[in-house]
Formats: sequence, C-alpha cells, structure tokens
Amino acid sequence: MIDFELPEAVGLVCENISRFVDERLLPLEQEVGFEDEEIPHERRIELRTELRDLGLLDLQRQEEDGGGGFGQRDMVAVAEEQGRAVIGADMWGAWRFPALLNRLPEESRKHYEELHEHDQLSGCLCLTEASSGSDPASMQTYFTRDGDSYVINGHKMFITGGQNADYATVYAREKGTTGREGINAFLVETSNPGFNVLRVIPTMGHPNSVATGAAEIVFEDMVVPAYARLSDEGGGWGMAQGTVGGVRFRMGARAVALAKRSLDMAVQYSKGRITFGEPLSERQGLQFMMADSYIAIQATRLLTQHGAWKLDKGMDARQEISVVKIQATEMLANVVDRAIQIHGGVGVTEDLPLERIFRNARIDRIVDGPNEIHRWVIARNLLRDRVVI
Ligand SMILES: Cc1cc2nc3c(=O)[nH]c(=O)nc-3n(C[C@H](O)[C@H](O)[C@H](O)COP(=O)(O)OP(=O)(O)OC[C@H]3O[C@@H](n4cnc5c(N)ncnc54)[C@H](O)[C@@H]3O)c2cc1C
Repeated sequence: MIDFELPEAVGLVCENISRFVDERLLPLEQEVGFEDEEIPHERRIELRTELRDLGLLDLQRQEEDGGGGFGQRDMVAVAEEQGRAVIGADMWGAWRFPALLNRLPEESRKHYEELHEHDQLSGCLCLTEASSGSDPASMQTYFTRDGDSYVINGHKMFITGGQNADYATVYAREKGTTGREGINAFLVETSNPGFNVLRVIPTMGHPNSVATGAAEIVFEDMVVPAYARLSDEGGGWGMAQGTVGGVRFRMGARAVALAKRSLDMAVQYSKGRITFGEPLSERQGLQFMMADSYIAIQATRLLTQHGAWKLDKGMDARQEISVVKIQATEMLANVVDRAIQIHGGVGVTEDLPLERIFRNARIDRIVDGPNEIHRWVIARNLLRDRVVI
C-alpha cells in the first residue's frame, strides 16, 4: 500500500516473515479447530524453532544480546507482516520475555540466562484485578518484605495465557500504599508454589492468543527473590506506562494487517459474485464501503508509523499511543464488519477467517486500556495544553 523506506535488513526480515506467514501460518489457521482454536503445543514448538533458525525471533532484543536490534518503526513493519495470520500473535508471543530481561539489572539477568536461551517460553502479564481494570492504580494485590525476598498475596483476573505461561510479569503494591505509589513489577516463574490458576474464564475471540483464553490467578504467600524485581523499587507504575508504547504501535500494525486482509478478501469476492446479473463490484454502495475501508487503513498505517518513529527519536508519544489504540481497533472493527457485509452469509461462516477476525476485534476495544480511557487521556492532554493541535 504505502511503501516506506526500510533499512535493508528490516526489509529482508519482512520478506521472510511474509513467506513464513503464507507458507506456514495461513494453511495452519484453516486446520486449527474452531472449538478451542488452539495450535497444538508440539506444532507451536516446531514452528518457533523454525522461526529461530531463520533468525526471525527476538528481533527487538539488543544486538549484543543476540537479538536483531530492531527499533520501534522496524518492529511496526515486522508486525504488519506477522499480523496477517490470525494466529500470528500466538507465534511471536514470546517476544515479551527477552524484552523484559533487558530491563533487569545485569546481576539479576544471570539468574534467567538459562531461560533466556529458550525460545519456547510463554509469558503473561498480571495487572488486572476484579476491582481494578481501567484503573490499575487501585490494585489490591500486595507484597510484604521478608529479608531479601518479597511475599505476594492477591488475586488477578483476565490474565491471557496465565494457565500455560512459564513466567509472569506480576504487578503488586507494597502493603499499606495507595494510588500510583509503592507499586513494583516482578518477573515470576509460574512454577512458583504460590502461583495458583483458579480457572480459565471463557471469553469470545482473543486478540493476543487464540490458544489460551484468560485466567484467574491467585497468589498465596508467593515468595519472590529480590533479583526478580523488574521495576525500580516503587517504580512499577512508571514501568507499566513506559512499556506500553511499542506494544500499542505493534497492535496498531496488526490491526492494519488484518484489515488489509479483510478488505482484500472483500474486493476479490465482489468481483466474482454475481447478483441480479452483475458482479457485486459494480454496485456503488459496496464500492463506497471498500473506499472507506481503504482510507481508514491508510490513515491508521500512517499514524502507527508516525508514533513508532517518535518513540525511536526519544520523543513523547503518549498522545499518539492513545490515538493509535482507538483508531486501529475501531478501524479494524469497521473494516471487517464491511467485509463480512460484502460477503453476505458466507462472511459469517467458519469457512472464512472473517468471523474470527471480527470476534478478536471486539475484544481489542476493551483490552490494553479500554477506548474510553484513551479518549479521556487525549482530551485531558488537549485541555491541559500538553499537545499542539
Ligand atoms: C479477553 C481478555 C484478555 C485480557 N488479558 C489481560 C491480560 O493479559 N492481563 C491483564 O492484566 N489484563 C487483561 N485483561 C483485562 C483488561 O485489560 C480489562 O478488562 C480492561 O482494562 C478493562 O477493565 P474492566 O474490565 O475492569 O472494566 P472497567 O474498568 O470496569 O470499565 C468498564 C467500562 O467502563 C468504562 N470506563 C471505566 N472508567 C471510565 C471513565 N472514567 N470514563 C469513561 N468510561 C469509563 C470502560 O472503558 C469500560 O468500557 C483482559 C481482558 C479480556 C476481556
């Protein structure tokens, strides 16, 4: 669509990922059952090993640590290729682990070196609680100190992949603190005896992993060593805010990828489907739908690239993060909805990926900060003259 100039290495990686998606993931997507929508574990390991051998994992990790050293804009280009498959996010889901390790102080990292080399690890993020979703600063999961260790107690909700994860980023507050103060983030191995999965909460389509669903997790006197603290002492809130930027821009790129796929399907289908003696593509009402979808995709793509570019330049991209979260999720919902409409009945069958993209898109407007909260952030920045109009 829009040809951004990419560094040669990034362009090559994108081509290779594109081939991997076409040859491996799109055929698998059709095979994966609709009941649990899960890639069999062995198959996932096989595919991830293949990705590692092709040098297509850990792209964002620093080069001196064996990663690709890709910046935010590079990763947005990569995510636009990865995201074409509904199961793409599931394949590359392990990226969080290396990224987290980079945050640990040097002396802490060595405790995880063995895991570090293991590409098959799955992670989860434990932030939301029953009484704190949009407003995570009201979290109640707390830690106390026991010598050099922390002891965590609490209850987390809707933790994507929590039931299958090998490690978790857990946010908890020092007992007795309130608001944004006293929050720490910890890197926790889920084999820790205090990490208990209570149940998997069945939900409709899931943005991050069709494999896993969202879990309810209880921490009971979970002892965490001091070296597992990811944030500065009491700096968990700042860390949570600081890590979302790149994630949201990649989410934007994935939405663009799925929207492009949906629009392409609609365009192709409309040319072959005859009603009342004419192909659907001749109907102006449907042409307008396609044009609107195209415009929205292009706009989202530019916003996403621009935000990632600002992050790469070390600029404040908080407004762009919220703008992209809203624009990308609402754009995808509209584009896939129109694509389904153009397909008619076949659009909502499980023979095509559209209904699945549609379900996933619905969740995207709630997770990673509901869109209302992002609108609030944008308006607040405007009203406090924090951004130039
Ligand atoms: C499938 C799924 C996967 C998830 N995965 C994870 C995960 O891996 N890790 C994790 O930590 N969390 C996860 N979540 C939790 C998710 O981040 C929260 O559901 C989300 O933050 C919203 O919180 P809530 O559900 O408590 O809604 P609430 O905070 O109760 O909000 C309810 C509604 O009110 C609106 N609202 C709230 N406050 C305001 C306001 N001030 N002004 C206007 N509107 C407002 C919200 O936008 C929302 O629409 C997941 C959720 C789902 C459904």
